[in-house]
Amino acid sequence: MHLRYSYRVYPTRPQRAALARTFGCVRTVYNDAVAARRAAHRAGLPYPSTAVLDKALITVAKRTPERSWLAEVSTVPLQQALRDCHAAWRNFFDSLSGKRSGARVGPPRFKRRSNTQSARYTRRGFGLKPNGRLYLAKVGDLRVAWSRDLPAEPSSVTIVKTPTGNYYASFVVAVDDGADLAEPIDDPDAETGIDLGLKAFAVLRGGKTIDNPKFFRRLERKLKKAQRALSRKQRGSSNRAKARLKVAKAHEDIRNRRDDFLHKQVATIIGENQAVYVEDLNVKGLARGRGAKSLHDAALGRFLRLLESKAARAGRTFARVDRFFPSTRLCSVCGALTGPQGLAGLSVRDWACGCGAVHDRDGNAEINIRREGQRLVAAGQADT
Ligand SMILES: [Zn+2]
Repeated sequence: MHLRYSYRVYPTRPQRAALARTFGCVRTVYNDAVAARRAAHRAGLPYPSTAVLDKALITVAKRTPERSWLAEVSTVPLQQALRDCHAAWRNFFDSLSGKRSGARVGPPRFKRRSNTQSARYTRRGFGLKPNGRLYLAKVGDLRVAWSRDLPAEPSSVTIVKTPTGNYYASFVVAVDDGADLAEPIDDPDAETGIDLGLKAFAVLRGGKTIDNPKFFRRLERKLKKAQRALSRKQRGSSNRAKARLKVAKAHEDIRNRRDDFLHKQVATIIGENQAVYVEDLNVKGLARGRGAKSLHDAALGRFLRLLESKAARAGRTFARVDRFFPSTRLCSVCGALTGPQGLAGLSVRDWACGCGAVHDRDGNAEINIRREGQRLVAAGQADT
């Protein structure tokens, strides 16, 4: 399994200038590759391979007056730009032929400067110094804020500059299952279902609740305000550029705070439980539409992915329960389908079953999810 580890980096002024040159060259090579493939397509020629493009757009181009400045930066991120372009075409074709599931992917487009800028380095182009600095070819030794440990040697690093002017180093690390093995918990009660909700972020065994973080609503309001302000600004104006920056900053704040929150919750859950059962979400479907709720849905989706990968590394059991499993409707005492359902039932917090049992909606759902997860794992049917 490959994991990403991101850290803030603080380049000096000359390093920022070197990175700006590198981002520019990466964008140029990428766009040249898009143009070359489009031209080949128009001419009815086969798509030029990455090796052919490498020679034409990097090695040979460097010797021409129009592209001589490509020689000022490391070749490594330029070659990665060609790989990225190739991957983008492949995704497009796989999406066309149905080989790739999920949302339709369009053909690669030209990269513009206003977007997030990035450059990827493989082992040949970067190194980690004993003093904690990150060496990048033709840029220098960057200062990194190591907010957590890298679990293993990274195979690549992507340097990202966000629209707000912050820099991040995002490392890819290959991690084996069980690489981060936790002490097994020899207690049959150390298993929990997780009911994901709207009122609470999640409900665990025994009614233990993870509340929706308060900062989420506040940051969401800030984002909406920034988005509204942006929509009122005239195209091409400097006020519009400023407003766009504010939107980008709000997004970045949300992402950082959210990931911080999620990492902490996941660490606690995995630390306390030998097995974790979750209700699978149709996150892709949920994430579309209604802007306000999609932030919450995106957080839930990311939560499940982090939980699953952390469970695998720690050697914990993790299983998803089908999202059509009626965890809310099922009475966990008698097994009858007497609970709240549908849109009308959304506001029902407590309910009584005909069998005499009185349920808290989320607590009851957690019990059902946990039992169904245990059943699937015991039957060898867990779709992990
Ligand atoms: Zn009942």
